[in-house]
Amino acid sequence: MVQASVKKRKILVPEPKSRFIVVSCPDCGNEQISFDRASIVVRCRVCNRVLVRPTGGKAIIEGKLVRVLE
Ligand SMILES: [Zn+2]
Repeated sequence: MVQASVKKRKILVPEPKSRFIVVSCPDCGNEQISFDRASIVVRCRVCNRVLVRPTGGKAIIEGKLVRVLE
């Protein structure tokens, strides 16, 4: 089931390459590396605030995007 939907999406829209991103926590300033297509919720290692929320596609960045690692 999952494989079928992935294939379908690839036909409709060629997926851009996933990238690593550096996200800063707005609450405590901790910076950590995540993934711009994270499939799980990424939380701050220090205060546990949600920084990246998965959507099934490109993740929603709830923290501050510091930079993108190419
Ligand atoms: Zn934090």
